Amino acid sequence: MDGFTLELNDDQKQVRDWIHGFAADVMRPAAAEWDEREETPWPVIQEAAKLGIYSLDFYAQQFFDPTGLGIPMAMEELFWGDAGIGLSIVGTGLAAVGVLANGTEEQIGTWIPQMYGDPDDVKVAAFCSSEPDAGSDVSAMRTRAVYDEAKDEWVLNGTKTWATNGGIANVHVVVALVDPELGSKGHASFIVPPNTPGLSQGQKFKKHGIRASHTAEVVLENLRVPGHCLLGGKDKLDERLARARERAAKGGERVKNAAMATFEASRPAVGAMAVGTARAAYEVALDYARTREQFGRPIIDNQGIAFQLADMRTQIDAARLLVWRASWMASAGKPFTSAEGSMSKLFASETAKKVTAQAVQILGGNGYTREYPVERMHRDAAIYTIFEGTSEIQRLVIARTLSGMPIR
Ligand SMILES: Cc1cc2nc3c(=O)[nH]c(=O)nc-3n(C[C@H](O)[C@H](O)[C@H](O)COP(=O)(O)OP(=O)(O)OC[C@H]3O[C@@H](n4cnc5c(N)ncnc54)[C@H](O)[C@@H]3O)c2cc1C
Repeated sequence: MDGFTLELNDDQKQVRDWIHGFAADVMRPAAAEWDEREETPWPVIQEAAKLGIYSLDFYAQQFFDPTGLGIPMAMEELFWGDAGIGLSIVGTGLAAVGVLANGTEEQIGTWIPQMYGDPDDVKVAAFCSSEPDAGSDVSAMRTRAVYDEAKDEWVLNGTKTWATNGGIANVHVVVALVDPELGSKGHASFIVPPNTPGLSQGQKFKKHGIRASHTAEVVLENLRVPGHCLLGGKDKLDERLARARERAAKGGERVKNAAMATFEASRPAVGAMAVGTARAAYEVALDYARTREQFGRPIIDNQGIAFQLADMRTQIDAARLLVWRASWMASAGKPFTSAEGSMSKLFASETAKKVTAQAVQILGGNGYTREYPVERMHRDAAIYTIFEGTSEIQRLVIARTLSGMPIR
């Protein structure tokens, strides 16, 4: 184990402290206001852009940190600042990753800069996969993309839902069905350039938490995009579809490794967001328990409170270790033989829900009011067990991976 360490190096500490400063000085003071307004915090995003925190360069630098800890460290600090504003800042990254994962170099160079805009005119992007009848079950997707060969254009029709930044984005990345007979193997991703006719925002959701993050339906009606907006290009798609048809003709594949590498690599980032929210609530609760007096002594003097804080902190640290392990595995190219990425997201998100509920309890009546931030953190934490695969879906992936069985 020569060289093994869990200590951050000096560069990482510097980046962490820089983001922490932004989270503490800019995000925290703005958090309650944008939660109440339920609107995208454009001025905060702009501030992040001016500092270089809202940019592709920033994420690329963290992504290429050879230890794998750059992204989880950044996510934990931003979501420690505030989850709703945090998602407004990192939501564009979800769409950018869709392009980075499937796009050609030309597509990456053309579209990702338009997703972020520039510090004087910031933009956001949206990744639209979920549909009203296709949430956990992605294979139920109905949005269709049909190729119009004469014009070299794709025609998209369907309704997407739950899209973070949907309708307000400059660039939308839309997943659609190109071959209905192949189910989820017949999907492809498309760029929808700014101001394309045929894309409109449907309902904007009024949510329980992360209210500063915009979530909406996206309606696609005879929307036409040029052929070059198909991510990866037509030749690659045709090859992939041909392989999928061949496999389907042979009776399909057995469940060998249910843990899909791309999700395993991205889920720890969501786990890190959950760790940030949990840590924030724990810190408020610890502070409060030390100063709030009842029966003539601080409430932390009671084992009933102190032991809860001990459990909270232990679970947060365990969650971070799972997140760091999975992030390191992703960057080191290790196979996720036990769905370690899903494990980290499952444990961290459940921890955030539990810890923020305990924090509300420790603050008593104050914890139940909007005078104290744990009320918001508790509402925010509920999202982590839902998006990017619910806790039940994480358990399904882990169980299938461990057993090799198509567990239902
Ligand atoms: C705030 C927010 C932001 C989001 N942002 C995006 C985004 O940017 N882009 C995007 O594409 N999507 C986004 N989503 C969608 C999100 O990924 C879905 O909500 C999620 O995948 C769950 O789908 P669903 O809501 O349809 O729930 P369902 O799939 O209907 O699940 C309902 C319940 O049934 C359980 N369940 C379902 N199947 C099984 C099973 N086989 N075994 C056991 N239990 C099961 C689930 O775990 C859940 O508890 C967002 C959602 C929210 C709430």
